[in-house]
Amino acid sequence: MKICRFNTDRVGVIDGESIIDVTDALDMSPKWPLPHGDWIVPQLASLTERGADSSRPKYLLSEVRLESPVANPGKIIGAPINYKAHIEEANADREINQGKTHYTSLDEFGLFLKAGSSLIGPSQTIYPRFRDRRTDHEVELAVVVGKSANRISRHEALQYVLGYTIALDVTVRGKEFPSFRKSADTYSVLGPWLVTADEVPDPNALDLSLSVNGQTKQKSNTRMMIFDVARLIEYASSFYTLHPGDVIMTGTPEGVSPISPGDRLVAEIDRIGRLEMRVGETLD
Ligand code: MN
Repeated sequence: MKICRFNTDRVGVIDGESIIDVTDALDMSPKWPLPHGDWIVPQLASLTERGADSSRPKYLLSEVRLESPVANPGKIIGAPINYKAHIEEANADREINQGKTHYTSLDEFGLFLKAGSSLIGPSQTIYPRFRDRRTDHEVELAVVVGKSANRISRHEALQYVLGYTIALDVTVRGKEFPSFRKSADTYSVLGPWLVTADEVPDPNALDLSLSVNGQTKQKSNTRMMIFDVARLIEYASSFYTLHPGDVIMTGTPEGVSPISPGDRLVAEIDRIGRLEMRVGETLD
């Protein structure tokens, strides 16, 4: 099942070229204090039967504004160096390594966190926030956590996944810590929708790619990840309790390159779909 958010916080299930609006099947009444994470996410797992109800409002996919499929992730976790060829390109390029960092392994460099306020979806626009500095695209498989997970072993880790989506981990290159360089407004993109885990039997065998203005820049397969999805969940949950709606961006393959205002980015991942994004003029 493909689940989306659209037209200002409506929740939809994709049905071919249409969206069935299932918002009214969800309990949207907030109860303070809200639990950690995105409190609608646990309800999405039970949408299957209700989503199929054809009496609900239906919209053409081409006529809605898609938003990030997760509204309020408690954490957006990033894996900085999870593809061998990306580590090699980062070590070879002073604009990426700043002449100060020699990248080795994920368990030596650890994870980073991106601000929730950086998150946008397909109908929005990426705005570079740092004038005259190199800002790169990074296409990544994103894992959406479905239930709380603390110190989970890799053998049971996939049971905690609600689904997968496409992520862009937009990054300005520079000396600052990753949490600063990757957390500006619009620097996290998720979309076009969330695909539930039952439709992705092996998340570690998905082609992924990204093009800029029609030219392919990144092209790889998630089997090239150094920490696969289960091991990333094991590793992340050994430090952080994962809550429903938390997102793990699983790292980018080689081919990162600068983006500029006016660029059109197309990211694709097997079994998930295609995410198109526009880069807007730099904000003053
Ligand atoms: Mn990244």
